[in-house]
Amino acid sequence: MPLAHFESGGVARNTDCDYSSAYISIFTDGESPLVGHGMTFTIGRGNEIVCQAIAVLADKLIGRDPEDLFKSMGKTWDWLSSDSQLRWIGPEKGVIHIAAGAVNNALWDMFARAQGKPLWKLVVDMTPEELVDATAFRYITDAITRDEALALLRAKEMGKKDREAIVREVGYPAYVTSAGWLGYSDDKIARLTKEAVAAGFNHFKMKVGADVESDLRRGLIIRSIIDDPQYLPPGSKGRDPNNRELQGKNAGPTGAVLMIDANQVWDVPQAIEYVKKLEPIKPWFIEEPTAPDDILGHAAIRKALKPHGIGVATGEHAHNRMVFKQLLQAQAIDVCQIDSCRLAGVSEVLSVLLMAAKFGVPVCPHAGGVGLCEYVIHLSLIDYIAVSGTMERNVLEFVDHLHEHFLYPCSINSKGRYNVPSNPAEGYSIEMHKQSIAEYEWPNGSYWVKTKGQ
Ligand SMILES: [Mg+2]
Repeated sequence: MPLAHFESGGVARNTDCDYSSAYISIFTDGESPLVGHGMTFTIGRGNEIVCQAIAVLADKLIGRDPEDLFKSMGKTWDWLSSDSQLRWIGPEKGVIHIAAGAVNNALWDMFARAQGKPLWKLVVDMTPEELVDATAFRYITDAITRDEALALLRAKEMGKKDREAIVREVGYPAYVTSAGWLGYSDDKIARLTKEAVAAGFNHFKMKVGADVESDLRRGLIIRSIIDDPQYLPPGSKGRDPNNRELQGKNAGPTGAVLMIDANQVWDVPQAIEYVKKLEPIKPWFIEEPTAPDDILGHAAIRKALKPHGIGVATGEHAHNRMVFKQLLQAQAIDVCQIDSCRLAGVSEVLSVLLMAAKFGVPVCPHAGGVGLCEYVIHLSLIDYIAVSGTMERNVLEFVDHLHEHFLYPCSINSKGRYNVPSNPAEGYSIEMHKQSIAEYEWPNGSYWVKTKGQ
């Protein structure tokens, strides 16, 4: 889907997005056939390469009994990621890994649909043993063993029912990125920020990294609005910035929090100098300050910014659980930003949720793009109900576009929080409308045929 198709802005490193997805549907035969849908996200060129990798991986599923695969999704994950020839073009990174994400997610979608539950519900209803069996454990046992994971999950068993009831009622905390894209005029930033405050949001993210003067100016515009009680929704008094939940987040007088995101644009020393200059806008964290593979670089930035009260977040481009393991071991991050389909699907996400819970680092998944918001609400619900047991310091990214292409779009309540997906037929909520596929499938969809040569 071309970005020109809807109104949006850019980021410092990914300057010309055409939001795309590599989408897979898997089917079984037999008397009551099952179906599962999955996708991974790209931003345009190269999407077709991911589609080819998905086809090669999914071929391995042909002839397998789904019940057999569902019995231990951890083993299934390992089997799918350990093909001795396909490993050569990874291992566990790049095209082959995000393709594995799409395939693993499609299997999980099929599993959830077969059980008549949304994906999150399927996972939180598992026993600790079943959940650990569903997790990708290879290469992380120096950070968390299977027994430690079991102990952690057992300790959370008691409160699961209560937490599920709470989050169904109040929703899961969210934040907006839509107001702070690079390239928006000051007026547009002010208007979108006011709209976001009025919609109940209290965490806001701004893209930075192109020009420090402009970042400061835009940041001060946003702060002037989010810190001013006059823009709060009618009847709302905002939140007490001294709340335990807001501690360490540089919340302003109304309890509003600002985050900044550089999308990997700096070298390490540059990141430190640049972000120090943004101290007046009091960000909670800088997201993706440098190369996503640079674990020690993130640790150095975190250490240098700590005296300035600014944290470090990353993860949307961390390509596997081992990178997250090291980010946690090196104390390189304050916030862990998993991606639902850069990691190779739910089974690998579970391993990161378990490690983050053990290290006491909140998980605030990356979203935006096509379908990512639909996916991640499930992961945050699993984290809250079954794994970490907390949500009030967490925030889940929300970007309000392209939801219309999905059968079960995510939604936000009047308090600026995600509603809990509750349709028993929706699985992992990633099934696309047939009409959207017919229109936008590259290169033969009706949209592309119509625009050929233009
Ligand atoms: Mg980001």
